[in-house]
Amino acid sequence: MKIGKEDFEALIKGEKDISSYIELDTVAGTYSVFGVRTASNPNYLIKAIYEMNEAHLNKKLAVKAVRKLFRSVGLGSLGLFNLLKKSGMDLPPAEFLLLVFKLQHQQGWGAPFELVEQSDKRIVLRTKHTFESEILKDWKMPVCGVHMGWIEGVLMAVTGKTWYCLERKCVANGDDCCEFVADQVEPSWKFKAQAVVKGDSAITEFIEHKPVKGTIKLIDDPVVIMPRFVFSSMMNSLKKTMGELPAGGVNYRAYMDMGKENIEHYKKMGITEPKTLSDMAFTFYSQMGWFRLVKDEWNEEKKEKTITLDNTVESEAFGSTGKNVCYCTAGLLAGIIEGSFGIKVQAREIKCHSKGDEFCVFTISNKAE
Ligand SMILES: [Zn+2]
Ligand SMILES: [Zn+2]
Repeated sequence: MKIGKEDFEALIKGEKDISSYIELDTVAGTYSVFGVRTASNPNYLIKAIYEMNEAHLNKKLAVKAVRKLFRSVGLGSLGLFNLLKKSGMDLPPAEFLLLVFKLQHQQGWGAPFELVEQSDKRIVLRTKHTFESEILKDWKMPVCGVHMGWIEGVLMAVTGKTWYCLERKCVANGDDCCEFVADQVEPSWKFKAQAVVKGDSAITEFIEHKPVKGTIKLIDDPVVIMPRFVFSSMMNSLKKTMGELPAGGVNYRAYMDMGKENIEHYKKMGITEPKTLSDMAFTFYSQMGWFRLVKDEWNEEKKEKTITLDNTVESEAFGSTGKNVCYCTAGLLAGIIEGSFGIKVQAREIKCHSKGDEFCVFTISNKAE
């Protein structure tokens, strides 16, 4: 089927609809709409995508993961945009967005949007409901990650800039419509890191893994994947050369310096508030697989902080040993606190999973000069 400028113009004006462009060949098993192969009933697929992400994230983060996936779908609209441009139709971003969703909606996918507000830096769109808000109605929260990502992708494709879309009203959250606010943003490290600390994003959203090239980046910072047994291997090697206690001390010191350096890096990136600095470090190390923070308590009388962790990297690497093993983790905690609050502290592991305790528990107290 040949599709030209007149077809797009007729569709935009509403003189024609997509039904004239549907080709269904049941023998060949192909279904094309507007010259593009498609398929019917995406409900099962959409539900599966949300549930697959929810299985290892929470609901809120699953919505964000779906948003990331559909950003790529939106980026694919560049082909259509260029085709229109070539045929002499140079639509502004918001109008192109409306056209994309009109085409999709008539095929049973995207929502028919109404433009609420538009400027160079902000576009607000509204619809009665989206298909994912119906499919995921029982989540009772803003769920339209498909549309958020799709909008971001389309806008990125046609403007070459970064857009961030939020859903401020959602039918699945009990509102009378789904309303999306897309803002053109500068994609800074700070912006992304804060989203992770607030729980609006998981670090997986910002991992750029190029296995073939041999590189991994986490929010623009190079990182590596390390096997967990590095910790037992390193400790055993140090033990052989200098004995167990000094080896623990060396590890403690090395990881304390690393924790402090890590905080310095956050400071260079524009984070200044001490509590945010330490929360950021705890969130990142936790999401990178170093430990899970169970609780964090403060004893005013003793001026002592107690941090309870589960799955510390060392206790998992060593397994059951009958004694405390988390020297690196203790050092790391001390370094994070020292770097964030600008004080001198001493971290001690008072309970350890490897010793047989339920959790690894650390006390952090001011270091006597
Ligand atoms: Zn919604
Ligand atoms: Zn431990």
